[in-house]
Amino acid sequence: MRYTLLLKDHANLTRKNRGGSNYRNGQRLEGTGWAFTRKAIEGNTFFSHSLGIRQKYIEEIFRRFIRKLDPSAFSPSTTFIDYTRDDRDTSYPITAFISNNGSKYSIKCKHLIGADGARSAVRNKANIGFSSVSSGQRWVRMDAVIKSDMPEGRRNGVLIESPTHGSILWVMIDHGRTRLGYALPPALSEAYDKGKEITPEIAMDEAKKAVAPFYLESETLDWYTVYSVYQGIADSYMKNGVILAGDACHTHSSGSAQGMNAGVHDAVNLSWKLGGYLRGWYTKDTFLSYESERRSSAQQLIEVDIELASLFGGVIPPHFKDLPENFDTREALNDCFKRNAGFTTGLTISYSSNILNQSFEPSLASKAEAGHRLMDVMLEPPGGRAPRRLYELMPNNGQFYIIVCAGARDSIPKRSLRVLVTYLSSPQSFTRRLHSAAFAFLTIISGHVNQAWELLGVEPWGHVYYDPQGAAYNTWGIDLAKGAILAVRPDGILGHVVSLDAPEQLGAYFDGIVLPRKAESAADIDGTEIIRNGSGNLPVGEISVQNEPERMVLAKL
Ligand SMILES: Cc1cc2nc3c(=O)[nH]c(=O)nc-3n(C[C@H](O)[C@H](O)[C@H](O)COP(=O)(O)OP(=O)(O)OC[C@H]3O[C@@H](n4cnc5c(N)ncnc54)[C@H](O)[C@@H]3O)c2cc1C
Repeated sequence: MRYTLLLKDHANLTRKNRGGSNYRNGQRLEGTGWAFTRKAIEGNTFFSHSLGIRQKYIEEIFRRFIRKLDPSAFSPSTTFIDYTRDDRDTSYPITAFISNNGSKYSIKCKHLIGADGARSAVRNKANIGFSSVSSGQRWVRMDAVIKSDMPEGRRNGVLIESPTHGSILWVMIDHGRTRLGYALPPALSEAYDKGKEITPEIAMDEAKKAVAPFYLESETLDWYTVYSVYQGIADSYMKNGVILAGDACHTHSSGSAQGMNAGVHDAVNLSWKLGGYLRGWYTKDTFLSYESERRSSAQQLIEVDIELASLFGGVIPPHFKDLPENFDTREALNDCFKRNAGFTTGLTISYSSNILNQSFEPSLASKAEAGHRLMDVMLEPPGGRAPRRLYELMPNNGQFYIIVCAGARDSIPKRSLRVLVTYLSSPQSFTRRLHSAAFAFLTIISGHVNQAWELLGVEPWGHVYYDPQGAAYNTWGIDLAKGAILAVRPDGILGHVVSLDAPEQLGAYFDGIVLPRKAESAADIDGTEIIRNGSGNLPVGEISVQNEPERMVLAKL
């Protein structure tokens, strides 16, 4: 995920969480509690801090961007009622029935996406089961402007180990607010079950007890909620044209702040697959991989959450057996945080081997792994020393990025490049056989280079960027003398890596993912090579490899 848009829009409203502090009996403990977030991000992303921004503001940002793409995308007061499916209509088999301010109407569609929350009407109407377990715990969450003598309260995310209210959540959020969270003590939870109302006064009084020995006073209480902790997952994410995303297919506690994050990951994973499938770029198997990839990620999240939510409440998780006498839920919580730090920060969310994620010869990219996020790196554009993040150069527009690591300035593997050029110019090339719109190219050369064309002896593939100190090659573990070709999925996950002189293996990789191209024009079938990047089509030009005869590849645009 690329969160730059959030940073630009709301960084001015919120404070940076610089790290995590943990307090036990009023004393600060080092290296525990939310400290795991800092360790997890260090060296793994160019973002240095986390920002606490309430979901309503995040949704507002997304709405603004979506309206720019399609002003009619939102239709307030619209309620999904039901749907029918008629397989005789092969184009639009689904008819959804909608109501809006008393008017009822129907929409014919190919797919129906239920992103309608935990009580999903779409899920229910599609008869998709939802298995859930309840921990029996009740948690309180509140957003307030507070006064306190907590020393780290305006600097870090704080975790206070309370003997009565579980582990206390304390996070600075936007507009000077602080989000506080605690577990209702068992007696109060029982009374609540029997109908006792938890008023704002009670909620705040309990918060004061929860953060003791620190003093707490609220100036403004914006919002609070009391909710039951349970974990659940839909039996399937895709059924006869119905697709589920977000809370409609997975719910869990808010202990590690994952619900909206997991929903965004669902949307990012689904959007390029569904969009590409509908456009005729991607195969059905590519589209269907949404379910296997995202459902297994939700299962992992739920397993972590069952453990984490119990320990947050000071309760031993049900699957913990044979515990030592000195077992301490607070230590176990810290251990759980640390074990799952990468997953919780989202940086190591990964997908198993499938048609999209195919393992490769480790020496090609010894520090990268198929199915994992390709680590971001800084690169320099030709003629400029203002570095750019690779992620900015690979906007998620549904295309695969094919990164040609063409070697280092002093050791360009020209023969391998010649093999690549020859393959890409041949009728067997995947760029000619398969839907070419699905591919964008980038070339990365290690070292300071005056002119890429001259150095390579061929036109670079897509835009060229330089890796002056070899940091990118080093980060991914790529041999400077041999180079490699990386296939990066539209969502930034590394799909596959092949050597420069085996580009046909890239063709074999894409055969299961991208559909054969339709003859869009005479140019596409008469031996013309077209390599596209995000900004248009670039021809593969003249090839002039040192000590090799010259050859010209025709290009028509
Ligand atoms: C107290 C609390 C704290 C949380 N903290 C965090 C956190 O720190 N980080 C985090 O990532 N997540 C957090 N979450 C979880 C997060 O809020 C949810 O996971 C997220 O809102 C799910 O998004 P969604 O779009 O799937 O569902 P929802 O946000 O529930 O949105 C569903 C939408 O569908 C609409 N809808 C429902 N039925 C219909 C219908 N029939 N027709 C038309 N529209 C319909 C609803 O009006 C709503 O707009 C927290 C949750 C809670 C309760």
